[in-house]
Amino acid sequence: MWMVQKVFWKQVHDSIISVLIGDNHNLIEEIVGLTDLCNGCSDCVKMGESCRGYGPIYPSFLEKYIVPNHFDNLVVGDPFFDFIATKSDSLEEWNLPMISCRNLTIDCAEMKIDLTNLVSSVTQMPLKIVEMMMKKWKVKSVKINSRSMIKDIFNYKHKEIIAPFRLTDPFATTEKSESKLDHVELNLTRSSKCTRGITTEEVEEYRNVIANIRRMFPTDHIKITGVYVQSSTLRELYGVLNCLKETIYHENQ
Ligand SMILES: [Zn+2]
Repeated sequence: MWMVQKVFWKQVHDSIISVLIGDNHNLIEEIVGLTDLCNGCSDCVKMGESCRGYGPIYPSFLEKYIVPNHFDNLVVGDPFFDFIATKSDSLEEWNLPMISCRNLTIDCAEMKIDLTNLVSSVTQMPLKIVEMMMKKWKVKSVKINSRSMIKDIFNYKHKEIIAPFRLTDPFATTEKSESKLDHVELNLTRSSKCTRGITTEEVEEYRNVIANIRRMFPTDHIKITGVYVQSSTLRELYGVLNCLKETIYHENQ
C-alpha cells in the first residue's frame, strides 16, 4: 500500500512539474507542500531559488540550495528536524544556506511513536538548530503549525548536542532565546491534542505551551489561531475560556 502511494505521489509531483509549471518555474512565487511528494528533489530545490514562499525544506536544501534569496515564508518541519537531530555530532557541521527569511513556519506532527520501544511522546524539536536558523536567516516572525498526525519513528534518538525540546516541557528550565520576534502564531487548525490541552482539563502538560513559546520565541505579540470550540451552552464556553486563560497566564500562577 505504501509503495502504491509513493508511486502515485511521484506521478502527481512529476505532472505538476512538467505539465502545470513547465518552463515557468522562474515565475512561481510560492510553492508549499510539493516537496512532501518527492522529499525535496533537485527540481523543487531549484524552484525554491526564485520563490518567496517555499517548503517544507528537506535535507537536500542544505546540500543543493546555493543562491542567496529572501523568503517571505519558509516552512520547516519533521523531515528536516529529524535528519539534523539524528545525523549531527556538532552544530558547526551545519552550514545553513545564505538566505534570509521574514517568517519561519514550523510544521510538526504533535506526537511520534518509537516503534522499537512502542512508546509515544510529544514531538521534539532541535532547539539549537531552530535558534541558529532564526539568527542566521534574520527571522522576524514564527508560525507554529501543530498537526494532529502521529509520526512513526524507528529507534529515534536525538544527538545530545541538539538539545531536544518539547513545547510541553516544564517551562521553568527553558532557556530564553536572545532574538526578539515581531510576532508569533500558534496555529491549531489541524491540531487535536494541543487544542484539547489548552481548552480542556484533559491534557495537563499542554499548560506549558505558551510559557515555553514566550521563552523560545520572545515577542510581545502571540496569536493563537484555528481553535474550534464545540460548546452549546455559555457554561461550557466559560470552561473553555477559563482553560485558555490558565494556559496563557500559567507562568504567573
Ligand atoms: Zn520535487
